[in-house]
This record gives sequence, C-alpha cells and structure tokens, in this order.
Amino acid sequence: MPRTSSQRSPARRLKVDDYREVAGEYYGTPKELWGLALPAQKGTPRAVAKAALLANTTLLGIDPKLRDLDLRKVIPTMGGSHVIFSQTYAGIPIHRAYVTVHMDGANRVYLIKNRAVPEELLPPIKQIQIADAEARRLARQSVKGRNLRVLSSEPMWFPRKKALRFAYKIRLRRQTPSAEWIIFVDAITGSVLSKYDNLAMATATARIFNPNPVVALGDWRPLLKRRKPVRRVPLTAYETVQLPGLESSGRLDGRWVTTRPTKNRIRNRSLKFEFASHEPGFEEVMAYYHVDQAIGYLRSLGYTGSRRIFSDRVPINARATKADDSWYSPATRRIEFGTGSVDDAEDGETILHEFGHALQDAICPDFGQSNEAAAMGEGFGDYLAASYFAAKKTGRKRKRLIPTVMTWDAILFKDPNPSKPPCLRRLDSRRTFKTFDDEEELEHDNGQIWSATLWDIWKAVGRDVADRIIIESHFQLDGFTTFARGARAILDADRHLFGGKHLTALRRIFRRRRIGPI
Ligand SMILES: [Zn+2]
Repeated sequence: MPRTSSQRSPARRLKVDDYREVAGEYYGTPKELWGLALPAQKGTPRAVAKAALLANTTLLGIDPKLRDLDLRKVIPTMGGSHVIFSQTYAGIPIHRAYVTVHMDGANRVYLIKNRAVPEELLPPIKQIQIADAEARRLARQSVKGRNLRVLSSEPMWFPRKKALRFAYKIRLRRQTPSAEWIIFVDAITGSVLSKYDNLAMATATARIFNPNPVVALGDWRPLLKRRKPVRRVPLTAYETVQLPGLESSGRLDGRWVTTRPTKNRIRNRSLKFEFASHEPGFEEVMAYYHVDQAIGYLRSLGYTGSRRIFSDRVPINARATKADDSWYSPATRRIEFGTGSVDDAEDGETILHEFGHALQDAICPDFGQSNEAAAMGEGFGDYLAASYFAAKKTGRKRKRLIPTVMTWDAILFKDPNPSKPPCLRRLDSRRTFKTFDDEEELEHDNGQIWSATLWDIWKAVGRDVADRIIIESHFQLDGFTTFARGARAILDADRHLFGGKHLTALRRIFRRRRIGPI
C-alpha cells in the first residue's frame, strides 16, 4: 500500500462542526468526541495524542498542561495507534479516569474518549482515617467464604457520580468457589464503596445465535430437512460471546437480567455457557444474553442513571410452556418463552419482540389495553427486533431478510412466494390505518400496520434516529393509546431530541399510512 503523505500541521482546537459528541453523565464534559477527521501528522503517536489533547483542554475539562495525565500505554494495531493516559490527583490514581486518543496509520486522530474528572470537581485533600490493615479487614468482612487472601491494597480515588472519594482499592481472592473481588473501602469513613467479582466478569463466555441461524447463514434452505428444522444446526451459525457483569454463582444472575423463574435452571461454576441449540440450557443462555445486551443498548442511548427504564433485574422464564407461545406478563413483569416447535428463545428476534413488550410496560404500565394500543405493542416489538438485528443481515439474501422477523422461530411458516424467506411476520405491509380491523384477536395483523409505519421511519431517517425518537415517544403514551397519539408523540420526540429535523419526512409517512390527525 502506498504511504499516504503526512504533513506537519499544529494540532488545532476543535470547532463544533469538527466532531460529534457523546455527553458525559456527571461531569458536564464530553465522554466521547467522534467522527473527527484531523489531518495526518508526523511524529510519534504519543506526541500526536498529546498535541491533540493540549489543543482541546477546555473542551475536555482537563488540566491545561496535562500535568495530571500519565501515559499508560500506546497500543499499535493493524489500523493505527491507541494512546491511553490515566489521571492522577495528588499523586494518587483516579479509578477509571482514562483519556484515550485513537488515530489511524497516518496519525489522523478520529476519536478521543474522556473520563477525566474536571479540575473543579477535585475535592480538598483529607487525612486518611482508616489504616491499611483496618481497610483489609473491612474488605474481608464484606464477602462470604473462608480462605480469603488479600492480593493487594493501594490508595486510589474512587469517583461516585460527581464526587471523588479517597479510598483503598483491595484485591481479594477466594479459592473455592473461585472469585476475585475488587473492593473499594472509603479511607475516611470505612464504608465499602464498591465490590465486584472481577474473575466472573472477565471469564464468563457463552455460545449463542445472533440473532438466529437463518440470519447467520444468510439462508433458510440449509436449515430444513424433509420439511423439518434440522436438529443439529451447523457450527458456523453460532457465535461465542462474553457475558459481562455476571455473578460468580454459576447461575445466570447478572447486572440487569436474571433467569431465576426458569425451572431446572443451569448452574455452571466454570462460567462457560457453551451449549449447542439442542442441549438444555441453550435457550436460557440466549434469552439472558439478548435481553442483557438490549438493556445495554438502551443505556447507550442515554437511558441510564436517573433515566434508566428498568429499575430491577428483568426476570426471564426460558421454558415457561411446551406450547409454541411466548409472552410478557405485566403482573409478574417476567418474560416467558415456550418450547413448542423451534424453541422460541432460540431466536434472538423473538426474544427482542418480547423484550419490546417489557420495555413498553416499564415506560407506561399496562400498555395495550385498547385494540389500537395492543396492535401498537405487537408492531413495536417487531420493529425493535428488526431494527436491532438489521445490521446482522448480510450476504446475498440481505434484502430479503431485512424486512422479516423470526425467520428461525417460524422456519416452517412458508411464504407462498418461494423466493421469500419463511418468517413469523414482515415489516413491509402496504396496509394503512384505513384497513385497521377493530377486533380484539387481530392485534398481530393490525400490528403490521404500525410496524410498517415504524419501519418506514427507520428507512427514512436511519436506525439511530428512528430508535431514539420511537423509544422516547413512549413516555407520553398510556395503556389506551392510539395510532394518532403515537404518531404525534414521535413528532414531539423529534422536536425534543433533534430540533424537529425530521418532521417533514415523518409527517409524510404518517399521512401515507393514513394515521392522524397529526
Ligand atoms: Zn407480542
């Protein structure tokens, strides 16, 4: 590959048009500046990174001379370099206060991530009240089990929302069952500020479909044998993933999800959840993984902290019935999956559809009381599943698979047109609200009017905008809502989140689907 010509130009202060920003949660400074296109630079990645930071200390809220940033490492990769600094205060490191600068092979900086604590939030220095030995004792006391060994103890600043607490970071090891905790003990009050099992978080792995074998293989035909779904799905249809934030108990109890209501739930102390789809436990792992990731996605959109949507762990029953049926129960707030035909929880899109019901109910309790609201519930679930996994649909059949959902769950549902994939439902219905049939049992049919409307939005404005305005619109809906109110809520959400940038496109879609008044 020919070398791109580098030029030496002083790093410059970024202007508003130069970047896109992810706002920080507590500090009032950006957590991420992305979409940068800075010019190529000569010099070492370290020097280039420093220059980029020095030119933007005000924007990032960091020391004007970078006095409190220590170079941690420079990671050269195939695509460029990643330069990592960590912040210290009074000579003591601040937990997770990293600033990282990412550049391509020609040292063009394209991303800056920033978790530095701004100077004005640094607290006055206090005298340590709790001695090291006492902190170790408090740490041991906070976990269960014998044979506990302290591996290390060091002073560290621990950020709690806006405030920094002076603490000890203590690593504590337990042999059986194996666990390794990181515990922060407040050096002034002696209280335990944070405790997590590092080992469990680092090593839990799982094998899953993402979202299902039809999408993974890009085709449905290899998965049918004598008009039945194959029992042993080809290995290439699986993905191996990590399960972050799992407790070390060996059960699927994690940061946001638990499979507690599942009978005979799996327990695997080695934290390897690598089953094949015909083995028991696979559907439980699938449901756990996809709901956990979906909540992570909501958090990435900003629904975290005081804006979080789920205040408790979402409980899942992965094997609730032998029937071919799944549901969300507003009474127990559980998501429940059936095992008839293809196990429902073997299809990530079925999981996301049911999660959609849980999400709506968490935002507006008892969603779906009227026929219109019920249809919107079904339509939203299908939309969420299609939007969430669209990027996974690649290859020659991408176009055919994109407007479908639950192609594995419903692999036996043949489309009369043999070039179209089998699927439970499609998102490209041409129906308008004029054909809404006001009967209770037609919620899935009517739902296709709403899912197609939402899908029109997705196609017009893209996933990111569509997901954001559609999810945000739910906060002004209620259990008896209507298509028209739903449409107006989406228009409002666009006004509040994007200054009404997409109103013309949105109105055109609602008018075409005969939904209104808007
Ligand atoms: Zn449903």
